[in-house]
Amino acid sequence: MTGTSASAGPAGPAGSGSLTAPTSWATGVVREVRHHAGGAVVLRLAVDGMGPRLPGQHVVVRLRADDGYTASRSYSVASDPADPLVELYVERLVDGEVSGYLGDVVEVGDELEVRGPVGGWFVWDGVRPALAVGGGSGVVPLVSMLRHAGSTGHPDRVCLVAAARTLERLPYADELVGGCQVVALSQERSPAGREPGRLVAADLEPLLRTGQQVFVCGSSAFAEHASRLVVDLGVPAADVRVERFGPSG
Ligand SMILES: Cc1cc2nc3c(=O)[nH]c(=O)nc-3n(C[C@H](O)[C@H](O)[C@H](O)COP(=O)(O)OP(=O)(O)OC[C@H]3O[C@@H](n4cnc5c(N)ncnc54)[C@H](O)[C@@H]3O)c2cc1C
Repeated sequence: MTGTSASAGPAGPAGSGSLTAPTSWATGVVREVRHHAGGAVVLRLAVDGMGPRLPGQHVVVRLRADDGYTASRSYSVASDPADPLVELYVERLVDGEVSGYLGDVVEVGDELEVRGPVGGWFVWDGVRPALAVGGGSGVVPLVSMLRHAGSTGHPDRVCLVAAARTLERLPYADELVGGCQVVALSQERSPAGREPGRLVAADLEPLLRTGQQVFVCGSSAFAEHASRLVVDLGVPAADVRVERFGPSG
């Protein structure tokens, strides 16, 4: 984002004293930056005054240019709600205005405008058994659910099925091992020996349980495909929650 700098200080409603409401902007200070293959970046932010988070929620990050131009995008939170830092995994898109800036320019100590947490639908209550199915960066909010299950002593409450082209492009691949986790790679054999190929019903069927809630997240095409698979396997549509990572403004 040419000429854009991470803004210092909230730019929310004038005189807004509380930064906890999702309608107000807070300052997120970048505490950690980790670059990954393919240009993806993990940013860990200390967001002053952010209220409690739920696994599955996202935040809105706003960049501001010197001339006042702004660009805002949504990013899911990967961290467990118990983690004081807000962790984002940003996949750098070709010609991506905001993801390019976050992936290439942002450094430790920078400040970003952040609003959130946002979302009351695509959230896991931490109690009901869940099957989480993510494609690409759609895995990110599901990792928050998985981490929350682990930190509360119930790692088996969330089974995460993660799809990507290659292991290198799969967010948090190192956490998606053991338990009831499944990695489905379309272009290479998975570490557990799954043959390359698109996500299919056989990847999901062994993980289905009565009373389970299903979370599906990814591109529109992935979300359509995966939610159709679970409904065709007999999961009531009312138990399936879907979040799509399409272009956003
Ligand atoms: C609720 C929600 C949560 C999200 N969480 C994450 C997350 O955790 N990690 C993450 O990396 N992204 C996430 N996204 C997507 C993110 O908000 C941006 O859309 C993405 O970073 C692209 O923004 P950009 O400014 O870099 O690209 P733009 O400059 O807006 O677009 C560049 C090009 O990429 C295309 N494009 C834009 N967005 C996408 C997309 N999502 N997928 C494919 N092509 C696209 C555009 O059509 C254009 O051709 C989320 C989106 C939503 C709605």
